[in-house]
Amino acid sequence: MLKFEGTAISMGYAIGKIHYLNNPKKNIPRYTIQDTEKEMARLMEAIDIVYDQLTVLNERAKESIGNKNALIFQFHQMLLNDNSLRDYSKNIIVNQHMNCEYAVKKTYEHFYNIFANLEDDYMRERADDIVDLSNKLLNVLMSENEANKVNITEPLIIAARELYPSDTLSFKKENILGIVTNVGSFTSHASIISRIMGIPSMSNTTAVLERLNGRYAILDGEQGILYVDPPEGLLLQYKSKKQRYEEYRNMLNSQKNLPTVTLDGKKIGLLATIGSIDGAQVAIDNDAEGIGFLKSDFLFAGRASLPSEEEQFMAYRAISKTMGKKVTRICMLDMLPEQECSYFNISKENNPAMGMRGIRLLLENQSILKMQLRAIYRASAFGKVSICIPMVSSVSEVRSFKKTAKEVRDELKREGINYDPSTQIGIMVETPAAAVISDILAEMVDFISIGTNDLTQYTLAVDRNNEDLINFYITAHKAVLRLIKLTIQNAHKAEIPVGICGDLAADKRLTEKFLKYGADSFSVIPSKILEMRSEIRKVDLKEKKSK
Ligand code: PEP
Ligand code: MG
Repeated sequence: MLKFEGTAISMGYAIGKIHYLNNPKKNIPRYTIQDTEKEMARLMEAIDIVYDQLTVLNERAKESIGNKNALIFQFHQMLLNDNSLRDYSKNIIVNQHMNCEYAVKKTYEHFYNIFANLEDDYMRERADDIVDLSNKLLNVLMSENEANKVNITEPLIIAARELYPSDTLSFKKENILGIVTNVGSFTSHASIISRIMGIPSMSNTTAVLERLNGRYAILDGEQGILYVDPPEGLLLQYKSKKQRYEEYRNMLNSQKNLPTVTLDGKKIGLLATIGSIDGAQVAIDNDAEGIGFLKSDFLFAGRASLPSEEEQFMAYRAISKTMGKKVTRICMLDMLPEQECSYFNISKENNPAMGMRGIRLLLENQSILKMQLRAIYRASAFGKVSICIPMVSSVSEVRSFKKTAKEVRDELKREGINYDPSTQIGIMVETPAAAVISDILAEMVDFISIGTNDLTQYTLAVDRNNEDLINFYITAHKAVLRLIKLTIQNAHKAEIPVGICGDLAADKRLTEKFLKYGADSFSVIPSKILEMRSEIRKVDLKEKKSK
């Protein structure tokens, strides 16, 4: 057996024969021409043909990946009609007397480089769209139609150096068991499409895929592993894994696009907890209604220097752009004790979980606090973001934080930098102190998020990371539940929404209880969203109140 690792792109398991898509870099003909008019006519005809192909692809994509995602093909049509691209090709044909194929190659190379060098992650990945489109034009010009290229009539694991959206959509869904490529990023359109279509996929494998053509394999899209010529035992193991996963997926799929409402009609927010830029796309793929908890630590942890304002801004902007009109609640830096960061200069603490964490660390490091706030406010001009303060234990902390936030807003205004003045500020209630005084705190902020991991740790005085104390870290301890209930009541008295996050938020045994306490939203890891929706939709709040 051979085993190849790569990046997991789309969940699920595929078992079957590998089919390598031979898509070698074409030898694009390059020659001089005399009749430039004729050559221009060839180009225009190819553009028209590709335009029509895209219309067909767009219709097909609407069925398989939904209207919104099918918009990629409209974007491709827009690019086809773009004057700068056309003028670039025209110049090569008319002024340099070069053939059409060469003009297309040069034009798309030029625009590929522009996109590939853009700072914005999202726009940079659109460089793939340029390649997809130029392949289509070249296929037409070199009279290689799609039907010739894609000749798959039985279910296979597709292997290729790289795949583009139109490649994936040109196969019949039932004939693609899985996809493995050498090149591809998690957020590329092709990857998004394979997730939406539920095709197990992996990428960035170093395997020489061409040599694996026709071999039997298992593709593990959860871990990003390809097993070639697997032994019987492994095969049996994966067959049952695949069956279980598919049953589970079918159950979850039945929840997609349904509103998150209780049986008696209360709308509940179902948000995602994420800790990376890619996480936003995973949240969207899993039907999240927003980001309830973006752990911003990922930008700070494990590095020698502080992330600049620009770097932070770009990350927040990329996430909120992916989320579109949906809210992204950014939790301010709350470095965990184990994530030592030399640039903070914190002296050795005997009890770091009770030490310089969250709001305390930020208030003591005003320049870092201001830098993060500036980045978030700047991102607020590009999406719907809000700010959440971690580890609050007193009124003065919230007051000081809000004062600094105001200074940052004033500064941005003076500098003429756009931000959304209605950006909300909320708090995490994750210390018992914050829960007990939540009536006062609730009057000072726009929302409350209950962090059940820390709330449990601090209420029970049990280190959440100490495995020896596992029996003392009692999930849903009565004391914690009382604090949660109290916080929800106080938030509602102050007429602000309150959500649950941390591990208890996804504990289905507690969903009904939290809803009956009055929780307005839940923030859970993306893979739990649809399960939670199914759970929430079963609850009837009109039934007898929970104690
Ligand atoms: C929590 O404490 O419950 C929480 C959501 O924050 P973290 O787990 O990041 O401390
Ligand atoms: Mg916490």
